[in-house]
Order: sequence, then C-alpha cells, then structure tokens
Amino acid sequence: MKLKEQINFIFEKYNFFPRKSLSQNFLIDPKILSRLIEEINLKGQDLVLEIGAGTGILTSELASRARKVWAVEIDEKLCEILKEELAESSNLEIICADVTKLCLEKFFPQGKKIKVVGNLPYHIASWLMLELARKYWVDHMVFTIQREVAEKITASPGSKKRGMLTVLLTYYADVEKVIDIPPQAFYPSPKIGSTVVKIRPNKKLLARNERIFMQTVRAAFASRRKTLLNALTRGLGMSRENTSRILIKAKIPENKRAEQLKLEDFIRLSNLIEEGKVASSSC
Ligand code: SAH
Repeated sequence: MKLKEQINFIFEKYNFFPRKSLSQNFLIDPKILSRLIEEINLKGQDLVLEIGAGTGILTSELASRARKVWAVEIDEKLCEILKEELAESSNLEIICADVTKLCLEKFFPQGKKIKVVGNLPYHIASWLMLELARKYWVDHMVFTIQREVAEKITASPGSKKRGMLTVLLTYYADVEKVIDIPPQAFYPSPKIGSTVVKIRPNKKLLARNERIFMQTVRAAFASRRKTLLNALTRGLGMSRENTSRILIKAKIPENKRAEQLKLEDFIRLSNLIEEGKVASSSC
C-alpha cells in the first residue's frame, strides 16, 4: 500500500481528521522517509526520540532499527492509533504529551546519547531546536522544518534572513541543510515548502557569560534596522558613550547592523559588555 493510502486507511479506520492547529501534515513520500532514516544513521544500540509521531509512519521504521524509541505525540487520538497500530514494537514507548512541557531527560538512561528526529510541528520548531541544541544528552537531530526557518538558521553573515535564532542556534550547534521537500510530500499538503536539517550540538566558542551573550544578540536583533550603536544602547539600557566605547574596543564599526555580525563578533562584543558591567558594578 502506498503511504498516502495507508494514511487514508488509518483516518477512516479511526475516524480521524487532521488538525491544522497542531501542524498535522503527514509524510507520504517514501523517498523522503528513506532520506530521514539515512540521515539519522541508526545502529542497533541506538536510542531515539521522535517528536510528533503522528500516525507512526516514521516511528515504525525507527523502532525496527534502534534499540529503543521514545515517541512524543500531543494528540490523544493519534496516541491511541500509535498504540494500536504499533503494538508489536516492544521497544517503543509512546509519550502522550506536549513536548514543550516535558522534562525529557527523565525518560532516558543516564549518560546515554539520544538521536532525535521528527517532522516537527511547525509552530514549535524554532523553540524546540534551540532548547534541544543545549541538551547534553542529544547526539544529533534530524528535523523537517519550514523552509523559511531552515533558510534562517543556515543564513550567513550579511544575509537579510539572519536573525536571533541563527546566532543562538549556531552558538550551540552545527547546522546543516540536508534537502528541500515540496508541500506534496505531506498529506494534507501544507501551504509552504519544508527542508530537512541536521543539527549537531557542538559548542566551539564560549561566551564568558551566556546570559549576557543572549541579551546582546536579542538587543541587536530587536531593532535590526537600527545601527548596532542604537540597537545596543536601547536594548541593553547602556549609555551611548559606553556602547560606542565597547564597539570600538570590539573593532566593530558602530553603523553595522546585527545581521552583518558573525557569531565570533557577538561573543567578543558580549564579553566586553560583561567586562563593562562588572567594572561599573564594582565601583
Ligand atoms: N511524524 C509524522 C507527523 C508529523 S505532523 C509524520 O511525518 O507523518 C506533526 C505531529 O506533531 C502531529 O502528529 C501533531 O499532532 C504533533 N504535535 C503537534 N504539536 C505537538 C506538541 N506540542 N508536542 C508533541 N507533538 C505535537
């Protein structure tokens, strides 16, 4: 049976109607399914977390290749379908919950790396990638996300598509585009194209104070059309003189815009801002 027929069969069998509000677009393209499996690169001993398991098309492939699969799904009806349709997969644990509210690490054996995969619910994709990129237990992630978000997280310095998410995510992880997917690869088809990305946590550069690093990135992009001098002065509540002094010290021209900076520039800048804060609070 073709994947689309398989999904329609399940819809009818369980009287299920997909919900747009939960980003319910189910994969029906076998080539993309194989590509996802190939990219997650499972070995028999691997532990896998799937986010948004849906009707279980990807889930069953994962369960047949890995040692253990935890599949998170928010929709209770889909959880019932998964439990019934995949009853024979004894290495599968279905977690019927909102992934944004879960403390995921409590499910996994301590000290083990987990591979994470999913055709992510689009409305939570950005948040989720950033959260997971910071987790020590993540080995690597293979996600299908909106093309627009994929272009954003892979945008180079100077690109208008670059944003706060680009800088923060690449601080924690290496991000790589795998393949673009047309809307027709899903059923029902979304309005927009998607892209498979691979994200591997790998913090190479360290900011002295991560909170200040994040505040700096946020402030710079919050007024992205403004010069850095104006954006940082406003966003960090510093005096113009102080911001100007820090930009000179960081060797960053004050009329540059946030999207033009490399990750290294933001780190250097936030280290100097932190130094400035410590200095001014100590006198
Ligand atoms: N992996 C499946 C389904 C992808 S659609 C496939 O490829 O066919 C996205 C899935 O994520 C839907 O099943 C939806 O119900 C689920 N979902 C949406 N929001 C969620 C959340 N906050 N937590 C867990 N699952 C969620």
